[in-house]
Amino acid sequence: MKSKSLGINSICTHVGEVEDKQFKGAVSPIFTASSYAYEDVAVKRYPRYFNTPNQEALSKKIARLEKCESALIFGSGMAAVSTTMLAFLHKGDHVILPQTLYGGTYNLVVEEFHKFGIDYSFAEGFSETDFSSKIQENTKVIFVETPSNPLMKITDLKMISRLAIQHGLITMIDNTFASPVNQTPKDFGIDIIIHSATKYMGGHSDICAGAVAGSEEHIKKIWNLAKNLGGSLSDYTVWLLERSMKTMVLRVKAQNKNAKKMANWLKNHRLVNKVYYPGLKSHPNHQLAKKQMRGYTGMLSFELDNSIEVDGFLNALQLIKPSMSLAGVESTILSPAKTSHALLSTEERQKQGISDQLLRLSVGIEEIEDLIDDFEAAFNKVTDKDLV
Ligand SMILES: *Cc1c(COP(=O)(O)O)cnc(C)c1O
Repeated sequence: MKSKSLGINSICTHVGEVEDKQFKGAVSPIFTASSYAYEDVAVKRYPRYFNTPNQEALSKKIARLEKCESALIFGSGMAAVSTTMLAFLHKGDHVILPQTLYGGTYNLVVEEFHKFGIDYSFAEGFSETDFSSKIQENTKVIFVETPSNPLMKITDLKMISRLAIQHGLITMIDNTFASPVNQTPKDFGIDIIIHSATKYMGGHSDICAGAVAGSEEHIKKIWNLAKNLGGSLSDYTVWLLERSMKTMVLRVKAQNKNAKKMANWLKNHRLVNKVYYPGLKSHPNHQLAKKQMRGYTGMLSFELDNSIEVDGFLNALQLIKPSMSLAGVESTILSPAKTSHALLSTEERQKQGISDQLLRLSVGIEEIEDLIDDFEAAFNKVTDKDLV
């Protein structure tokens, strides 16, 4: 098959299948063995070596989706993030990351890096000077996350890779929020692409996994450390992730579409003060998002009017579930101030633009009318109560 020209849905459905030579079944069989016959030292097969048949097959699918030569699958997004960063950062090195960062990555950096003698700086904003002003002699890596959580700010990927080339740095992106459906960082020169596959790749809130994609050379370097740190994913879950990814494009496109409609509906609601969604023309980074993304994701956040009590509103929802995680086929919602960003001080939250009235919504694949009805009913319930 001339696989080079396959479209994204065909890649999701077919690339990297494990062929069922025995029964000619239509889907990949699961090879559960943790012990394989010795062939030679270069091809020792073992789950922690990331090279079982199912692991190798799914890695090919992910590499192709990210337009990269190679990929690895991990036991969690954080296993992918930590292994990748530690593969390129050694004692005395320095890394630049955005201040607004996924909580787990932030904790990894501030709680662990000093033990390894790795230095770091946080870029306060998302502009070129925010990043370039942090470059020092020992800087090795720029790590970005775009769109950001929860305000959906966009970092210019071309600007980041240009900066990195000028200074001889490696670039890494956490591409989880965008998913491979909406953003291909390789197109803009980013070296290494990381995913929490727990989110859009898994898509059903029942898998914890991670992935990293890059050049053969970079992935080999990550693998050298990965096999020692031991963050591989069980073949049962590899198989389930492969199954989930077959429908990833269909799911994510439906979520993009729903989120755009929801963002527009919320924007016009009298009890909503602000909506943060890069697909809205009013979003400060809309033009940039349009340039480097194919869709604006199923993620958005919005501020309830001060007259609305946040907990009461969340409790009044029937269909949309309160949940810490995101990107499943079901719509979920959370208050960043009370959950993901609860450990920050009120001042620090204010500095990052996260108010107590802010809610983050992960839009699912339900009918948009049902989601809107759920919100409308909750608004009615909490405002009625005020009148009684
Ligand atoms: C969830 C998440 C992670 C961490 O992934 P786990 O699978 O929970 O380890 C990293 N980055 C982003 C943006 C995430 O949303």
